[in-house]
Amino acid sequence: MINFYPGPSKLYPEIGTYLQEAFQSGILEMNHRSEAFMELYASTKNLLKEKLNIPEDYEIVLVSSATECWEIISQSFVEKASVHLFNGAFGEKWFDYAKKIHSASSAVCFEAHELPVMQEMPKAELLALTHNETSNGTALPDSFQVQLRKEFSHSLIAYDATSSMAGYNLQWKNGDIWFASVQKCFGLPPGLAIMVVSPEAVDRAAFIKDDRYYNSFNYILGNARKNQTHHTPNISNIYLLKSTLRQRADIENIHQDLMERKLHFFEEMKQFPQLQNYILSSDQQSDTVFCLRAEEPAIVKLKNATKENGILLGNGYGSLKNTTFRIANFPALLQADFDRLLLFFAHFFK
Ligand SMILES: *Cc1c(COP(=O)(O)O)cnc(C)c1O
Repeated sequence: MINFYPGPSKLYPEIGTYLQEAFQSGILEMNHRSEAFMELYASTKNLLKEKLNIPEDYEIVLVSSATECWEIISQSFVEKASVHLFNGAFGEKWFDYAKKIHSASSAVCFEAHELPVMQEMPKAELLALTHNETSNGTALPDSFQVQLRKEFSHSLIAYDATSSMAGYNLQWKNGDIWFASVQKCFGLPPGLAIMVVSPEAVDRAAFIKDDRYYNSFNYILGNARKNQTHHTPNISNIYLLKSTLRQRADIENIHQDLMERKLHFFEEMKQFPQLQNYILSSDQQSDTVFCLRAEEPAIVKLKNATKENGILLGNGYGSLKNTTFRIANFPALLQADFDRLLLFFAHFFK
């Protein structure tokens, strides 16, 4: 089965070997305050910084999921209210969770084919954005991020980069908090998430002094600085993260490859007018998640046929469930996988 689902998604083929290695090494039964674990944690953080080009002064902490990050941000980085900018289901979900913690939080919604208008945005202690909206295949361009950073130099800016971190060459300085779980572009099994935090956000959290929860950021960071965790962590997945990062190319090269594959894919897709890109403006089209639109009955037929041919497409998400389907363009997928998909389309639409 070739898995084009945008999460959980295709794993790197080495995962099986690495799991066996982890088992044999004994690390999986080590205490999370042991030397062996601290070494694993330290080398994982170093590899993340090196391979993803994360600035030296940004902190990295490991938690369990992107959903947990949504909550940590409201708990530990926001005093009264956050402002949420979104055009899709994941951004909206984040806003729903944030409102439960700070009811004064507000939303600026925009259409999938447009960008939020800066002049219309309220002042905010923290802006919450979805860098790559996995539900509809849009991404916020670098130029928008740069402008937002400039306009809101006194606000914290948080980006949900769950389906872009480790695929995109993110410009970290455009944001203060970036987070992702690993079952998307990292090509790993679910159950681990990474939060990357600027010195300004660290200061802000220290000022707010939240210490009410087991996952209050200050507590997590205090442990992370000692290369420890605030609870017994997902050691298997941290081991897999370290092992896959070690073999990875630099993020610029990875992103370049994904962009070229995307261009090639949509060029080829012109042969199949039955399938249209849901996002028409190339400025907003995600490099890592493709969202395609078709007639409902055609999608049902296509999904059944792909399944019989060992190809798993991603269902549409939220309100787009029946009218679109999604294809991950994540680094663990190979050009050969895309060639096979295109060949399948050629037979199917013949
Ligand atoms: C998948 C996804 C999430 C949820 O991730 P979990 O690890 O299940 O919490 C959040 N945001 C975006 C943009 C996603 O793609």
